[in-house]
Amino acid sequence: TAPSYLVGLIGAGVGPSLTPPMHEREAAASGRRLIYRTIDIAELDLPPESVADLVPAARRLGFNGLNITHPCKQLVLPVLDGLTSDAAAIGAVNTVVFDGGSAIGHNTDWSGFARSLERGLPHAARERVVLLGAGGAGAAVAHALLASEVRTLVVADLDTGRAAELAERVGRRFPGARCEPAGADDPGRLLAGADGLVHATPVGMAHHPGTPVPRELLRPPLWVADVVYRPLRTELLDDAESRGCATLDGGAMAVFQAADAFQLFTGTPPDRDRMLAHFHEL
Ligand code: NAD
Repeated sequence: TAPSYLVGLIGAGVGPSLTPPMHEREAAASGRRLIYRTIDIAELDLPPESVADLVPAARRLGFNGLNITHPCKQLVLPVLDGLTSDAAAIGAVNTVVFDGGSAIGHNTDWSGFARSLERGLPHAARERVVLLGAGGAGAAVAHALLASEVRTLVVADLDTGRAAELAERVGRRFPGARCEPAGADDPGRLLAGADGLVHATPVGMAHHPGTPVPRELLRPPLWVADVVYRPLRTELLDDAESRGCATLDGGAMAVFQAADAFQLFTGTPPDRDRMLAHFHEL
């Protein structure tokens, strides 16, 4: 019989997530049986800290692994038996693999973004890149950008303390690169001389409409990547594209973080192009 897997996603408001159908369809297409359950702490009326009880419970119930999302990616750290060095450096876990008796934390947000950038903007200049947003997604993206050989990374956030903390942390992990913290109140100065802009704040999502950068500041050869993927076409990307900039939406990051998690859960690589095609059908 085909190997079978039981995995899940812990987070708040995860009911509509596209990650479960992506995993289940890829498993079916590759001859595996995989059941992917959402464990929605908001629906269960549980506090974010309950991830510390849910992870060991899932292990006892025979889950092979879990994805972890907002607001639990950091709260899960204390109940894990080990972390990959990347997850430790990022300080957040989005994938837990139960291996024998132990729970090991991984971060596939960074590898998903790195792969998405490589695929979507393979020739993008990487001398100086501005990252807007130093939260959970920003930390993974900062790691990915430096691993993708960005020479100078400017980490900008409305919360300048958070920008400084992230710039310092990734700078320590990638000592060959320059990491500069910045505020977000002067996008013109921020983008002067930048090759690329990666947006990792919630601005542009349905409940945070708008764009963080005035349209007139977007001009080639600047390239623009957005990690927001609901909607896929944000106002920022529409503006950038209409001004002639190369762009990258957040869809491939969402797919490739799932693909890397799938590989960790099942031990075999998925067909990433097929997963991307599935995602665009959903
Ligand atoms: P978060 O709350 O952890 O961090 C957001 C950060 O943005 C905060 O530090 C905040 O101070 C800053 N910020 C908000 N508005 C700003 C502005 N106008 N200018 C500068 N900084 C501003 O959120 P998060 O978990 O990092 O999520 C951010 C976005 O990334 C969400 O839209 C989420 O859906 C998306 N995301 C996408 C993927 C993917 O796979 N494509 C993965 C994770 C998150």
